[in-house]
Amino acid sequence: MKIRVGFGYDVHAFAENRKLFLGGIQIVHDKGLKGHSDADVLIHALCDALLGAANLRDIGYHFPDTSGEYKDIDSKILLARTMDLIRKNGYFFGNADITVCAEKPKLNPFIPEMQTCLAQVMAVEAGDISIKATTSEKMGFVGREEGIAVYAVALIQSNE
Ligand SMILES: [Zn+2]
Repeated sequence: MKIRVGFGYDVHAFAENRKLFLGGIQIVHDKGLKGHSDADVLIHALCDALLGAANLRDIGYHFPDTSGEYKDIDSKILLARTMDLIRKNGYFFGNADITVCAEKPKLNPFIPEMQTCLAQVMAVEAGDISIKATTSEKMGFVGREEGIAVYAVALIQSNE
């Protein structure tokens, strides 16, 4: 059995008059995130971790933001397609661990719902998707509430 790990990082800036999507769910907040897609920064970091584990380049390579096809797209579709790519290449999902860095809003109450949502999209167990929330102690762009940064690792396996 081959076991591979991948790492993903993404950041999006806050913008007025945008809805906030994180971990596949909509969260009520006074700002959303700027982006070509729905700007779900958590899903983007997770996709990059999965693609990295399989050595399949990155999310921008597969779903370019210059393409009209992906304008305002629901990132859950990108995650489902990423899982298709992983499985087509002979891998199955092991687990993921994700850290969201945001000063506001407080995310802990939403984590179980995000886990359930992502597990459904990926067709995996919610218990294999860990999501953690932290602040940046008011330092840097996260601390100034200019945006949200997400780090993710994912483990995949093949029977090769
Ligand atoms: Zn992104």
